[in-house]
Amino acid sequence: MKTLNIVLLGAPGVGKGTYAEILSKKYKIPHVSTGQMFRDAIKERSELGKKVESFITKGDLVPDDITIDVIKERLKEEDCKKGFLLDGFPRTIPQAEALEKMRKISKVLNFVASEENIIERLSGRRTCKKCGAIFHVKNIPPKVEGICDECGGELYQREDETPEAIKVRMKEYNRKTKPLVDFYKKRGLLVNIDANYPFEEIEKIVSQCEMALKK
Ligand SMILES: [Zn+2]
Repeated sequence: MKTLNIVLLGAPGVGKGTYAEILSKKYKIPHVSTGQMFRDAIKERSELGKKVESFITKGDLVPDDITIDVIKERLKEEDCKKGFLLDGFPRTIPQAEALEKMRKISKVLNFVASEENIIERLSGRRTCKKCGAIFHVKNIPPKVEGICDECGGELYQREDETPEAIKVRMKEYNRKTKPLVDFYKKRGLLVNIDANYPFEEIEKIVSQCEMALKK
């Protein structure tokens, strides 16, 4: 099988993490999420965790040099030999340029959904105050409304997941990501994936990815 070195792009709430998990199983390549790596490092209180904690808790981007080093090490691991699905990296042009020097990118899947759809998905999310588990009023409803299935904690809507906050986040995302989209478009690597399908029709989104990766 050919090597699949894939970059995933998409606004918060577009469902990127879910598609990444499905593609990871299908192609047997790891889902490499910088967000997850940083959260794990903070939990483990590792050297890296100490370095990135202040940026993450403030909601700032982790500086390029730290992020690039982390990815460089991760991509050297055995499980990345046949490829990988990069999620959350690159975020900036210097990161994209550094990545180009590490590995040849096969495709960049850019998940696109309308503002209404993203608002519906994100504003339906409910998070457990106690354990952080995530539910969705429509797609993943808890057994008892407002109560966490896992621990019985109270569910709430995060401040950054109200419709007003989502609009601001999307504008910000589009502004920051535009240069990256252009960067990969210029190299002929960008494929837009229409992610405007309801949760039940997720297969329609996944099959577009499969088509793109065949080429
Ligand atoms: Zn809970």
